[in-house]
Amino acid sequence: MVRPEPGRNRDLGPWQGRARAPILRPVYLLSVDHLDEIGRRLRGQGVRTIGPVVRDGVITHDDFDSVREFPVGWTEDQDGGRYRLQPTGTGEVFAFSSPSTSWKRYLYPERTLLITARRRDGETEVVLPATDTPPMAFFGVRSCDLAALAILDRVFLDPEATDPTYAARRPATFVVAAACNHPGGTCFCVSMDTGPTPTAGFDLSIREVWTEDRHHFLAESGSGAGAAMLAEVGAREATEEDVLLGRLAHQRAAEAMGRRLDADDPPRAATDPDHAQWDDIAARCLACGNCTMACPTCFCSTTEDSTDLSGTNAERWRVWDSCFTVDFSHLHGGAARSGIKARYRQWLLHKLVTWHDQFGSSGCVGCGRCITWCPVGIDLTAEIAILAEPRPTSRATPASIDGGAS
Ligand code: SF4
Ligand code: SF4
Repeated sequence: MVRPEPGRNRDLGPWQGRARAPILRPVYLLSVDHLDEIGRRLRGQGVRTIGPVVRDGVITHDDFDSVREFPVGWTEDQDGGRYRLQPTGTGEVFAFSSPSTSWKRYLYPERTLLITARRRDGETEVVLPATDTPPMAFFGVRSCDLAALAILDRVFLDPEATDPTYAARRPATFVVAAACNHPGGTCFCVSMDTGPTPTAGFDLSIREVWTEDRHHFLAESGSGAGAAMLAEVGAREATEEDVLLGRLAHQRAAEAMGRRLDADDPPRAATDPDHAQWDDIAARCLACGNCTMACPTCFCSTTEDSTDLSGTNAERWRVWDSCFTVDFSHLHGGAARSGIKARYRQWLLHKLVTWHDQFGSSGCVGCGRCITWCPVGIDLTAEIAILAEPRPTSRATPASIDGGAS
């Protein structure tokens, strides 16, 4: 059994810069059957294959046995607080933009058991759970989500604070990226320089070509494992015309972004804590935390302890948390950010401004999920544009005086 090797060209450096032309050399052609064969071969090696599927009225990710379980003939209509599946009337496999859920839950699960403790005969035994898990293959990873994985890598694979759960899963994950042909209404990967065509961080990258007389995938390898897979399934080299069709699809997708956000310069002008727009946002925001759960780069967590009724068995779990919960900023004496205004400001400015200081890039990859899945349709691209403009100061207690807790 050959286990997939991690991608060799995973350039996990900053995803900044403007010149992200698609790199498609050498390019091969794959059919749907070839793609299915790749999944079959991976499963034959004991790899868990996960890809896009339609579930409960949305496109999400789940385990699959056949590429025909993918959302063939479906796309989605996305806008602020809006998501609707729509039929395409075609046989396209990847006609959607960013699925409702990101890949982070497979590498950094919503709930992770940290320790189990048992008390026996006056002694306490602490057991660390095993972190090993079957290797996974992600099919159809969008370019924005590749950039998000690179950000999570920086956080969880930091040599000084490596997360054992993430480290046990990520290096063995085989990544099949899929270039985006149909960006959604909330997408802005081009302005964040993270898409729409993958350039690094994959084992294989494909772009679907659907015309009146063709349906196939242009494919390039990004690792030895990816190249070996292309050879194993007998992929043949693409013609110049095929490659040109792929480049045209890239161009069309890049010009079809639903939104934009200026990522060149972190919007430090927006950091004025007394800007009146913070009050406006606070009046709309429900502090539900949906944006942080949907975001592929948000990684905050808390711990929960529980004991059984006998009081002799206890568990500690790590669970996803959100900077929108009051308790998240709880210090001695109470929450540092008790008001919604301070909590939204913390989220937005961490994501777009201070993330640069902390990790050397924006914390936003332009996937648009936080806009789509915000129940009141708050749009960070619109808010940051307003906040970057000089405005009257807040009528409420200046956040600069009360430490930003309002
Ligand atoms: S902040 Fe919003 S658009 Fe940016 S990566 Fe997170 S969910 Fe996507
Ligand atoms: S911005 Fe929207 S999704 Fe995020 S906490 Fe506020 S209401 Fe919820």
